[in-house]
Formats: sequence, C-alpha cells, structure tokens
Amino acid sequence: MTKPVRTTTLPSGAAMPALGQGTWHMGDRPGRRSSEIAALRLGLDLGMTLIDTAEMYGDGAAEVLVGEAIAGRRNEVFLVSKVLPHNATRRGTRAACEASLRRLGTDRIDLYLLHWPGSVALEETIQGFEDLTASGRILHWGVSNFDVEDMKALDDAAGGDGVAANQVLYNLADRGIEFDLLPWSARHGLPVMAYSPIEQGRLLMHPALKTIATRHAGATPAQVALAFVLRHDHVCAIPQAGTPAHVAENRAALDLVLTEQDLADLDRAFPPPKAKRQLAMI
Ligand code: NDP
Repeated sequence: MTKPVRTTTLPSGAAMPALGQGTWHMGDRPGRRSSEIAALRLGLDLGMTLIDTAEMYGDGAAEVLVGEAIAGRRNEVFLVSKVLPHNATRRGTRAACEASLRRLGTDRIDLYLLHWPGSVALEETIQGFEDLTASGRILHWGVSNFDVEDMKALDDAAGGDGVAANQVLYNLADRGIEFDLLPWSARHGLPVMAYSPIEQGRLLMHPALKTIATRHAGATPAQVALAFVLRHDHVCAIPQAGTPAHVAENRAALDLVLTEQDLADLDRAFPPPKAKRQLAMI
C-alpha cells in the first residue's frame, strides 16, 4: 500500500500536506475543464489534499473550478487561497475572502495568504485576517513572495507573529532562497510552500534531470524536480497538473529519495547560491 502523504507542521501545531496541487491557469480553457477537475479529484484520492488557488487566477475562474472539484469532499481538503495586495485593507480583505468563499462553495479557507507585499500597511491586512479568523472564515493566515526583510517587517508589525506560512518561488532553477529565506524559515518554525516547483514545465527537458531519472527505475524528470524541493522537512510543494496522469506521476515523487550522487550532480547543473539573491517572483 502507498505511504500516506507526509505533512509539515504549522506554528499552530496543525498539519499541512507536504505535496499539494496548484491551480494557476486552471479553469481558463473550456476544453481542458473536465480533465482538470478529474486531476484535482484524483489528487484528493491520492492524498494530495492541499489545493492552492487565488482570487487572481482567471479572475475567480480557478476558485470556481476548485469549488466544483471539491463539492461533497470539503472535509478532505486543506484549502489555500490568496487576497490581492490592492484588496488587502482590513475591510477589503474580509470582502475578498467572502467572495472567494462564495466561488469555492465553502464556509472556510484553511490558509489565506497575502499574495505579495503591497502598499497597504501590514497591520491593516493582519487585522482583516484576524477578523476572518475570529468569525471562522479562515483557520490560518500567511503570506506569499515575502523575502527575509519582508518577514522581519511582518515580525515587527502588530499581530505579525500569527503568520502560518510563506509561499515563494522555489525550484532547481531558482535556488536563491537556500541562502537565507529557507534557513531563516526553519529557525522560525515556519513552513515554506514552493510554487512553480517544476519551473512551469521548463525543467522537464533538462538533461541532468533526465539522467538522474534514469538511475531510479521508472522515475521521471518531474519527480526529480519535486523530490529536490521536498527534501526539506519544512517545505511543501504545490505543482499544478491538469491531467490525472500528471497528478499520479507527481504523487509518486514522494517515494523518490535522491542520493548524494544525485544531489551533487544537481548542484553542478544548478549551482546553489553563494550570496544573497533578491527573491525571484513569477
Ligand atoms: P509548475 O512548476 O507547477 O508547472 C506547471 C506546468 O507543469 C503545467 O504546464 C503542467 O502541465 C506541467 N506539469 C505538471 N506535472 C507534470 C508532469 N508530471 N509531467 C509533465 N508536465 C507536468 O508551475 P506553476 O506556476 O503552475 O506553479 C504551481 C502552483 O503554484 C500554481 O498553479 C499556483 O497555484 C502556485 N503559484 C503561486 C504563485 C504566487 O505568487 N504565490 C506564483 C505562481 C504559482 P499540465 O497542466 O498539462 O499538467
């Protein structure tokens, strides 16, 4: 029997699945809709119960698609959505969340993130998150695209210590966070959610990944890319897959353990950072 999907622990002590499913661009193309819904549902069957979405994706279309995919199965899901920075005033955050809940067809979001740092004072957004927590609309709140300096500013803001996770770009081609943000997050017990973990598909053609995949019977470049980010206990990955076959392939990445030789070869092909790099963002 397949091992259950491992979890990473939020500061509250709650568990978050280490491998989930992204949804950017899902719901955009009518011809792919049924495949996308089948993919998300298979992911739930396979234990990839974290679904990541945002009010931004397709102007709400991705949330509507997620709502359809999880209908009748809400209790299985760890649901993540995001508020746009320009909506993130205290009142705006509440209103954006209510609209997301309507599109998702649910009464709560497990983790609600500020999509990237904006011009609204962090205290205001945090107050909005605290209102939503008090009313049970969200269970945890967090941030996305926050670099170390942004995290320090958050730490200084009233209520900022309530942050539950930071979602950032992390894959073999974008290893900048290994220099500072990743160790900083580990020291603070804060999970990091790796977005675009297979570099939006671009990593799949890389010869180093192909070579390493052939060393592990039946493994694929996508699984090598995912196993690489999942080697950290406090990192979870949210690949987006629009077909059931891709979801099944990604799920098996949890069974792939990269060897010292694999990691050394990956370091040669994708050198780790030797100095601070500005947090990259898509
Ligand atoms: P990913 O790195 O997840 O790559 C997605 C692409 O890879 C799709 O084209 C998909 O194709 C393809 N793919 C997935 N699995 C496989 C596989 N096993 N074999 C071959 N191809 C595969 O990129 P994303 O940018 O989508 O990032 C993942 C998620 O992270 C997003 O969907 C979103 O939820 C989140 N995100 C958050 C951001 C933020 O600012 N917070 C920014 C960007 C992303 P197919 O659809 O055909 O399966």
